[in-house]
Amino acid sequence: MSGESSPVLTVSDLRIRYDGRGGAAHAVNGVSFSLAAGEVLGLAGERGTGKTSLLRAVAGELPVRARAMPSGGLSFRDRDFAIARQDRLGAGVGRHLQGVFPDSDPGFRPWLTVGHQLVRVLRRRMKLPRSTAVDRVAETLGRVGIADPERVMKLFPGKVPAGDRSRLLLAKALMFQPSVLLLDTPDADGVALVKGLAAEGVAVILATEDLRSLAGIADRIVVLHAGRVVEQGAAAQILGRAEHPLVREMLAGGGGEGDAVLRAEPRNCPFAARCPEVFNRCRVEVPSLRYVAEGHAVSCWWDREQAAPYRDR
Ligand code: SF4
Repeated sequence: MSGESSPVLTVSDLRIRYDGRGGAAHAVNGVSFSLAAGEVLGLAGERGTGKTSLLRAVAGELPVRARAMPSGGLSFRDRDFAIARQDRLGAGVGRHLQGVFPDSDPGFRPWLTVGHQLVRVLRRRMKLPRSTAVDRVAETLGRVGIADPERVMKLFPGKVPAGDRSRLLLAKALMFQPSVLLLDTPDADGVALVKGLAAEGVAVILATEDLRSLAGIADRIVVLHAGRVVEQGAAAQILGRAEHPLVREMLAGGGGEGDAVLRAEPRNCPFAARCPEVFNRCRVEVPSLRYVAEGHAVSCWWDREQAAPYRDR
């Protein structure tokens, strides 16, 4: 998938803040990207670098204490969604955009069977006849790896085997046949479905801490640090010709806990404190994204091709 067809989803200048006693935490800071039908975008970054906040904002599932700043926007199939409610950025796109988050509450009532609840919500949102909805739920449960869908549909939520609970979350998203699927740190079952979904035209964003795991899955990759894009490009560019020191560290098996939650607009490179290549300019000026090849951009003052500080031309 080349990504050159018209985008199904465009995110512009997304900025998310969390207000707390210690002041605001700037979780996502001006992230923009677009996604075409059938494209897989890998969203990589260490823990705490804004991946989940970004996906939750797009899904319209930000927690109450989070705020999406009004500069940002979301366009779905050429329809712009104004940020009418700042904490529900993506809510306007309904069932077409589904997010799967590992810590989500599936919202099941304990006294009703899983099948009853899935069929009911599917019928309500897609206006399907009951038999069609039952068939689709069973088929989707099978697709996500649940061995005996009909049996699981008859279970109360508390009786569903632990190994099938995350599959239920995935099935609950997929049964709506979304155009865009957001997967936050999926397990092996979720990852295994990505290529097949993309082949069916579903646009997928797959967030992960393991940059190398995106090989063979992602078409393009965006790498975040401190809620900012530090490098983006085709998967082959990021995995094979990475420029940013953090991205190179992650590819070498390093990286882990994100080190920088911004409390204010940065005045220098947020990676400077741990960058092995830091030099004077990094400490006084914030690097912005610059293109090093078609479609491949990096946010760094070091010019790897010249093996010298970057010179603005
Ligand atoms: S701008 Fe400087 S500190 Fe930041 S990643 Fe590049 S070399 Fe390192």
